[in-house]
Amino acid sequence: MTNNDRPVLLTQGLPAEKMFPKLSPAQIARVAVHGRLRAIKRGDLLFEVGEQVVPFFVITAGEVEIVRPSVTGETLIRLLQPGQFTGEVNLLSGRPPMVRARARESGELIELDRERLLALVQTDSELSEIIMRAFIFRRLELISQGLGDVVLIGSNHCSGTLRVKEFLTRNSHPYSYIDLDRDVDVQQMLDRFQVSLGEIPVLICRGDVVLRNPTSQQIASCLGFNQAIDERQVQDLVIVGAGPSGLAAAVYGASEGLDVLILESDVPGGQAGSSSRIENYLGFPLGISGQELTERARNQAQKFGARLVVANGARRLTCDQRLRTVEIETGARLSARAVIIATGAQYRKPVLENLSRFEGAGVYFAATFTEAQICAGEDVIVVGGGNSAGQAAVFLAQTAKRVHLLVRSEGLAKSMSRYLISRIEGNAGIALRTHTELTGLEGNGHLERVRWRTRPAENVETRDIRHVFFMTGADPSTRWLDGCVALDEKGFIKTGPDLLPEDLAAAHWPLGRPPHLLETSRPGVFAVGDVRAGSIKRVASAVGEGSIAIGFVHQVLNE
Ligand SMILES: Cc1cc2nc3c(=O)[nH]c(=O)nc-3n(C[C@H](O)[C@H](O)[C@H](O)COP(=O)(O)OP(=O)(O)OC[C@H]3O[C@@H](n4cnc5c(N)ncnc54)[C@H](O)[C@@H]3O)c2cc1C
Repeated sequence: MTNNDRPVLLTQGLPAEKMFPKLSPAQIARVAVHGRLRAIKRGDLLFEVGEQVVPFFVITAGEVEIVRPSVTGETLIRLLQPGQFTGEVNLLSGRPPMVRARARESGELIELDRERLLALVQTDSELSEIIMRAFIFRRLELISQGLGDVVLIGSNHCSGTLRVKEFLTRNSHPYSYIDLDRDVDVQQMLDRFQVSLGEIPVLICRGDVVLRNPTSQQIASCLGFNQAIDERQVQDLVIVGAGPSGLAAAVYGASEGLDVLILESDVPGGQAGSSSRIENYLGFPLGISGQELTERARNQAQKFGARLVVANGARRLTCDQRLRTVEIETGARLSARAVIIATGAQYRKPVLENLSRFEGAGVYFAATFTEAQICAGEDVIVVGGGNSAGQAAVFLAQTAKRVHLLVRSEGLAKSMSRYLISRIEGNAGIALRTHTELTGLEGNGHLERVRWRTRPAENVETRDIRHVFFMTGADPSTRWLDGCVALDEKGFIKTGPDLLPEDLAAAHWPLGRPPHLLETSRPGVFAVGDVRAGSIKRVASAVGEGSIAIGFVHQVLNE
């Protein structure tokens, strides 16, 4: 029935017994309490790729094969024996499966729907650990082997390709990539189908839908990333933004029984998700990539039942009613008893001619694994003197030929942590260029050369460097609020004791009590993390604020 009876999920590098564990009879009995028994016959289909509602199965007798269908047939991913179970991260997040499951031998299963699986992992810590670890390891293996249900055809010289790659990667969605710069045959095929340059990249979704230069919303919808939201249902809590602060609020809110919906305009993880290595977050002495940290947080929030909508952010908050209403990009209006604004900040774009022409084609605002691969073995420039620039320089120096770190000031001491300065000083692959400013970008399609000026001599140099990373600070993402909550002069949201009597008077603060610590000038609307005026711009403080806000949300809901 399958192309090849040798499973492709060989568990290289990851322990097989953790990825496909066998539950003990006592553990199976505990699962059975939550589910129902189901007899299966050889050949019975248990679930299909892309199905919206998929149960969790524990095999108690017989065998189940997990296969990946393709135009040429099926590839066997894994054969599951009694004691083993189906599922991976998608089951927790309510997204459709990327594989098909079918009974290879007749037998019996325990079947749990997603809600019962969530109830099980929230109440049984031993099973929770086994199941969560297996799901995460299976996802990592699918990613490492490119075994997703998506084929991306693009070029590393095209900004759209980088955007789509980042969207899939930061949503932890596995995909196969065909590089048009290397595969001439595919390029010719696209020419025959009259796919123009502006329609690159092409994404083949689930083997049948072909999307040309798709938006994030189109990809999310094709891959079923978002579950339908019922506009009539009033949510306990809507969290706007899925960076560290929003995800922390979701973990604490959902684990304490609140009905939580998180809205994310782009991809989960926020700024932290674009950090190559976070070394100062408590409990990770060796550091952790921002993508991994925030991916874990997302799984944790979804384990507790929080729902996440990606590529569909908030575009308006209505404050004139007791019930808070958040309007999202699709136009849907969601009502909530409390709202947490966790929209963080967006990278600042320097004023430089041609900048927008080269975004994603030589100009980048994040230094993750995806960008590092694109500029491996070449000279790169990092612009900025803060910690994010330092991290990017150290990270890129591992793969680039040479990193030029450009700062306008006389050095790094005033703006960067000591540990990063020492790493930069001790790294022969990084050239620190002080008093230096980037003044020009040139190229045809892709960035080919840059100009920089060094003060005080005003020397201008031209260099054939094809990759520039701007790490030059960020502005608060508060424009969408349109004056609905009080902001400080830089656009950050004022909360609690920072709100002056005139702010409250202007907002017609209706309550006898003053605003809670993280509450904005509107009752029941909170602000946490980088978007909040006076916040410390760190992952730990964002996580702390997101967690603390839940205590105040409970108080407001009981008011
Ligand atoms: C490259 C880099 C490296 C860093 N390294 C470190 C480090 O090593 N240690 C450290 O402590 N800190 C580090 N930081 C800072 C840290 O990442 C931030 O302080 C932290 O991410 C702030 O979290 P947040 O949730 O408040 O906001 P953000 O991380 O900014 O997340 C906000 C989220 O809200 C979303 N959003 C915005 N507007 C809307 C809307 N209208 N609707 C829906 N969603 C919206 C955004 O897309 C984003 O996902 C780094 C930052 C960068 C950029």
